[in-house]
This record gives sequence, structure tokens and C-alpha cells, in this order.
Amino acid sequence: MNVPVTPNLISLVVPAFNEEENLPVLVERLHEVMEPLGPYEILIIDDGSTDQTKAVLRRLSQVHEQVRFISFSRNFGHQMALRAGYEHARGVCAISLDADLQHPPELIPTLVQKWREGFEVVYTVRKPDPTLSWRKRFTSRNFYKLLRAASDLDLEDGAADFRLLDRKVIDTLKTFKENDLFLRGMISWVGFRQCRIEYEPAARFAGTTKYSFKKMIQLAVMGITSFTTKPLYASVVLGLVMALFSVLFGLEVLYEYFFMDGIVSGYTTVVLLTLLIGGAQFIVIGIIGVYLGKTFVEVKQRPPYIIGDTSEIEEVITWQAP
Ligand code: UDP
Ligand code: MG
Repeated sequence: MNVPVTPNLISLVVPAFNEEENLPVLVERLHEVMEPLGPYEILIIDDGSTDQTKAVLRRLSQVHEQVRFISFSRNFGHQMALRAGYEHARGVCAISLDADLQHPPELIPTLVQKWREGFEVVYTVRKPDPTLSWRKRFTSRNFYKLLRAASDLDLEDGAADFRLLDRKVIDTLKTFKENDLFLRGMISWVGFRQCRIEYEPAARFAGTTKYSFKKMIQLAVMGITSFTTKPLYASVVLGLVMALFSVLFGLEVLYEYFFMDGIVSGYTTVVLLTLLIGGAQFIVIGIIGVYLGKTFVEVKQRPPYIIGDTSEIEEVITWQAP
């Protein structure tokens, strides 16, 4: 897909899933900060919302010439929405931010300034937020820990999807054909001159979080399996450890048989060991299964997302009998 690049234009890429109340406010705030920075476009990706998001977007795009939108045919997830945004952005750089105003638009001039200084990736890291629920903090912290341990990525705690990418980086990302694109990891992986900025997250303006516990787990599994096959090797190590354990245990039993009284009682140990080995086997088969499943999904080469509607298509297309 070849989207023409407009000189000097800055793209803002906003994924939105059921954000009808936030979008009008977001667009106003973006206008305020973008006005002094030069020409810009606001590209909003409606990720299959079930509320009035699309109608709101249609109206916004008619009122503001800077607003464009893409509407997915169903919910494909935040990462896919971001990806579609990068693929359709027309700017010489693109800034992605959440629709709920948790990523303060007031930070955008700083991002742009760093980019003008020559950085090709300006990423942000959120400062710890004490008002977040313990569950969210716990999952977020361990998400990054697990990801660092399981892959060779150097991802920081609280790395957010609030970042500026230069056109060069966007064009690089566009060449990735994999379906499961874990952007946070991919951006640390591609290199280029990177700059880090810390920010204070704001509270969600309206609505509730769209990242359920299940979606977070899915993102973690996707993040790990997209970047590393280490869990497969960990399975081998687990197998070796258990084999070693069984040899040692066998020696101990032989010793008892020949040198002690000769009676080896065994019901409990047999049951426990069967369960242990059975459990370990299922885990390992599961890990292999996850990778196999991923291969299956990638091999099919389905489109990563489906666009149902855009601001470029007029709303009412009357069908006429031939
Ligand atoms: N989002 C999306 N698709 C989804 C879930 C979320 O496009 O399936 C968007 C959402 O509208 C928001 C951003 O991704 O703009 C971050 O989501 P959210 O604020 O719910 O996550 P949190 O900030 O709670 O981690
Ligand atoms: Mg949010």
C-alpha cells in the first residue's frame, strides 16, 4: 500500500476503541498544541467500536480538514490499529497516542523538537503512577520483567505506545510482513537514533480501560513469542533437569534395595512422579503448540486487519439496480 507522503506534514496516529466521549476533546486539545508546529493530520483508527465512535469520527472529519479516520470491520486490537495508522499516515513523521488523553498532548512539542534535533525515534516512558490499581501495576511491571527475561529485548518498564517515528522508521516497519507485530518490541529492535522522554500519565478522561486482563496476557504471550524462541530451549532444559533428577532418584532406590532392608515403598512417589512428569510434558507440548500455532497463523498470510470504512469514502452509497 503506497500512501503518498506530504512534505512537512506531521501525522498523529490515534487508535480508538469505544472512545466516543474522548475523541472530540482529544481533537480540540490536539489542535491547540499542533497549531504552532506547522501542518498536521489527525488519523484516527476506529478499532471496530460498538458505540457511536464511527459517527463521531465521521462528523469530526467533516468539520475539521485535518481529521481522517479508518474504521476496522471488527475489533482487531490496539497493536493492529497502530499498525494501520502507521501504514496510512502521510506525514514525514508520525506521533502515536492513546485516545483517552492519558498521553498528554502537551508533550508533543517536546517530541517534535527532539525529532528536529535529529532523533529518528522519540519514545516515552511513563513515570510510575501511584493512583493505578495494584493489579494493573503488578501486571504491567511483571509484563516487562517477563519480556526482558524471555527475549533479548531491552524494553524499559512503562514503555508506552506514545512515540514519534521518523518516516524512515515507518517505512522500515512497513516492510515487516509478520502478522503478529509487537510494536513496542519492534521499535527497540530496529535501532536508529533513539531518544527517551519521561512523562506523567494523566487519568483516563472518560470511559474505562479497554485493556482487559485477558488482552494483557495475550499481548505478553505475543510479545515473547514474536521475539524469541527461548521458551523452546527452556523446555529442553526442563527435560534435562527432570532426567537428571530421575537418574539420581534411581541410584538412591538401588542403594536402598541393595544396602538397606531391601523393601522400597513406592505408591506415593510413583503417583507424584507421574503427575510431575505429566505436568511438565503438557507444559512443554503447550509451548511447542504456541509456536506451531503462530507458524500456522503466519503461513496463512491473511491480511492483518480489514478496513470497513474510511473518511475518504462517503457515508451513503446508494445502490442502484443495474
Ligand atoms: N484500544 C484499541 N483497541 C483495543 C483496545 C484498546 O484501539 O482493542 C485503544 C484505546 O481506545 C486507547 C488505547 O488503545 O486509545 C489504549 O487503551 P486503554 O486506554 O484502554 O488501555 P490502558 O491505558 O488502560 O492500558
Ligand atoms: Mg488508557
